[in-house]
Amino acid sequence: MDINTLTHEAQSAFKATFENDATITAAAPGRVNLIGEHIDYCDGFVLPFALEQNIVIAAAPNGTSTARLASSMGGDTVEIDLVGDILESTPKWANYPRGVMQYFREQNGCTLPGFDAYITSNVPAGGGLSSSAAFELAVATLLEGLTAITMDTREKALLAQKAEHNYAHVPCGIMDQFASAFGENNHLVLIDCQSGQPTLVPFENPDLTVIVANTCVAHELSDGGYAARRKNTEDGLAIIGKNSWRDVSQDDVESAKDQMDDTTYRRSRHVVGEIQRVMDAVKALESNHFAALGTLMDASHTSLRDDFEVSCEELDIMVEIAQSIGTDGGVIGSRRTGGGFGGSTVTLCESSKADAIIAALHTQYESRTGITPEIFTSRPSQGARILEGTSHGKQVLQSSPEELDPIG
Ligand code: ADP
Ligand code: MG
Repeated sequence: MDINTLTHEAQSAFKATFENDATITAAAPGRVNLIGEHIDYCDGFVLPFALEQNIVIAAAPNGTSTARLASSMGGDTVEIDLVGDILESTPKWANYPRGVMQYFREQNGCTLPGFDAYITSNVPAGGGLSSSAAFELAVATLLEGLTAITMDTREKALLAQKAEHNYAHVPCGIMDQFASAFGENNHLVLIDCQSGQPTLVPFENPDLTVIVANTCVAHELSDGGYAARRKNTEDGLAIIGKNSWRDVSQDDVESAKDQMDDTTYRRSRHVVGEIQRVMDAVKALESNHFAALGTLMDASHTSLRDDFEVSCEELDIMVEIAQSIGTDGGVIGSRRTGGGFGGSTVTLCESSKADAIIAALHTQYESRTGITPEIFTSRPSQGARILEGTSHGKQVLQSSPEELDPIG
């Protein structure tokens, strides 16, 4: 479903639910990470892009001091009182907008007008494609429109991350919210997670296609596995005795091996290897050396599976199928993507063979697991924005991505 259809759907559902016309529509995309996994919280580099798939919210002021939210995912309309502090509550899905609304008010020193909103989406929820960041950024962007306050893009992404930390209890790094906020058509968003600087890397070769394959195995990020990995990396860095993973070499990891348990050692080996792979991937892209990029993606998967242990049987099967199709069949590289322990894989392939690859992934995955996957292609697309209805608010000096070689 394209963005226009989704927008239309949001606006008609808004009208059916609230018996009124929406006056403003905001959208924010999910993201897929090409390479650089579980290192956004380790001062690493990551290379995601904003998907064509979005969360779209149609809304209108309602003249009260209450926000009323409904989602196409179902459930009753949720009412949120905008007068006092906005606290966590049920249903859980409304905690994303609750957190964003609370911090938006705090950070901008403003009040929020009462409003009605209807949420639609074609970002799979819980599929490792960050529907949560898309949701947060769509709400933050909607609030910009409703209050006529335009936030700096970085500040808006950080606000969304804070909502994810404190209202969804996922201690995520900055990748998801930065990709959803800073995404541009035909560009990957290289994020230096040490400096917090995004850099746009052109990705417009029509001969290349990115396939996203959702294994449809659910994952839970707040159940401890993610936080445990963060702890492992903090322990590793402390034993190595450096302040930042960016200053750690694979030799440093080897030198500290005897002081670490095997788990901490393997986690550390992943972090250092993955940071290097992202830097190599950017160079491979810049020199149109796509086979090298594919090899790096494959190596990333192996490291995430064996050393960082954030894969699962279904992800391994999906990657195995892609890798077995191989370069002759048009597959350049394949790996699991996202912070979770289920979710999706990302496969880089030759555009002319994409349809055949999708068909093979679908059939073989289904026959091996009994699960029907959800598979689609996506080009790098635009980040969070107002689609309809304008905000005439004060303009702020925007932090904008660079567009040059950041690594040299
Ligand atoms: P991911 O970010 O990988 O999709 P998460 O578990 O972080 O997975 O976020 C998924 C959660 O985000 C859902 O369980 C739901 O609470 C919320 N969410 C996502 N999309 C929507 C939507 N369209 N409407 C309401 N809530 C949504
Ligand atoms: Mg998420």
